[in-house]
Amino acid sequence: MIRVSEPFVPPESEALVSECVRSGWISSAGTFVDRFETEWAAYCGAEHGVAVSSGTAALHVAMEALDLAPGDEVVMPSFTIISCATAILAAGAVPVLVDSDPATWCMDLDEVEAKLSPRTRAVMPVHAFGHPVDLRRLRGITDRHDLVIVEDAAEAHGAEVNGERVGGLGDLGCFSFYANKIVTTGEGGMVVTDDARFADRMRSLRNLCFGAEQRFRHERLGNNYRITNLQAALGVAQLPHIEANITRKRRITAAYNRLLGDVPGLTLPIEKSWARSVYWMYGIVLDDGLPLDGDDLAARLRARGVDTRPLFLGMHEQPALLKRGLFAGERYPVAERLARRGLYLPSGLTITEDEIETVARAVADIVSEVSR
Ligand SMILES: *Cc1c(COP(=O)(O)O)cnc(C)c1O
Repeated sequence: MIRVSEPFVPPESEALVSECVRSGWISSAGTFVDRFETEWAAYCGAEHGVAVSSGTAALHVAMEALDLAPGDEVVMPSFTIISCATAILAAGAVPVLVDSDPATWCMDLDEVEAKLSPRTRAVMPVHAFGHPVDLRRLRGITDRHDLVIVEDAAEAHGAEVNGERVGGLGDLGCFSFYANKIVTTGEGGMVVTDDARFADRMRSLRNLCFGAEQRFRHERLGNNYRITNLQAALGVAQLPHIEANITRKRRITAAYNRLLGDVPGLTLPIEKSWARSVYWMYGIVLDDGLPLDGDDLAARLRARGVDTRPLFLGMHEQPALLKRGLFAGERYPVAERLARRGLYLPSGLTITEDEIETVARAVADIVSEVSR
């Protein structure tokens, strides 16, 4: 089976992780955590980095840092992972959805302004599958309405908007370092920000909000979202490789684009002129004319030894959220179409050129079979 993604773990990781083991610094105390935070924040062009145990935790501490009041609203795309909505809800606020751009799969900025209300406090752009949201344009909107931007850059490490890296462009930038992300610590996450007050709050929130004077006296509820020194050591080992990894992702995409460009009925990933996409995973969408949906293609590819993953199911179609009375009757046609007619192909950093050719040939054969 050609797997969808396997993590790239550089050999230097072993020495750094061994250092933790040998020295006994295996919990969240330890120098690799500070080093990973400093180096990652610098890479993103931000002042502070607060490392946490996952991307989901990063989104949660970022939302909590905003000190939202019950009923405050945060505008986010329907097409994303549920972590975005759970973070907003956990912070006591209300997620308000917009649809996505069919070309970039990123939130449709034309819809954002229409969804603003007197209760809107923040917008959460999600850089989808490595393509950045046009944060310059979004900043124009949020500045006019005095809103905070919380980026979800989990899939877009190193992506750029007009030459500037994501994560550091919003007020808060959230990352995941899960095993399938471009930089990985196995499990892990981080929030970067230029705002020292946000950073202090998040450091407290990730560590149970221990009291400053009296440790076990808490003014606020926090979580244990600490990352371990072992995980941070993996992260530090990854950093020198990030540009090479992004280049690899871009080459994987170029190879697939070349091999699939002539296959009728497929929509392939694109990159806007102002953007640098890092093509986190190679996603395709099947035209409505093809007598085949995403699940059918996935099953046929699996039968030929090729693993795939579906794209996100929109937030407005999530039973867990509908049960809470959210999004009743709302429709987001682009998100609905991506969920049904899209999937992503094997495109992890360790995939070989031969594997890419095998996958592309299988896709082309299946499309030609069903079109006959
Ligand atoms: C992976 C991902 C997350 C969540 O990260 P975890 O580390 O798995 O919690 C959040 N947002 C997006 C867009 C993601 O792709």
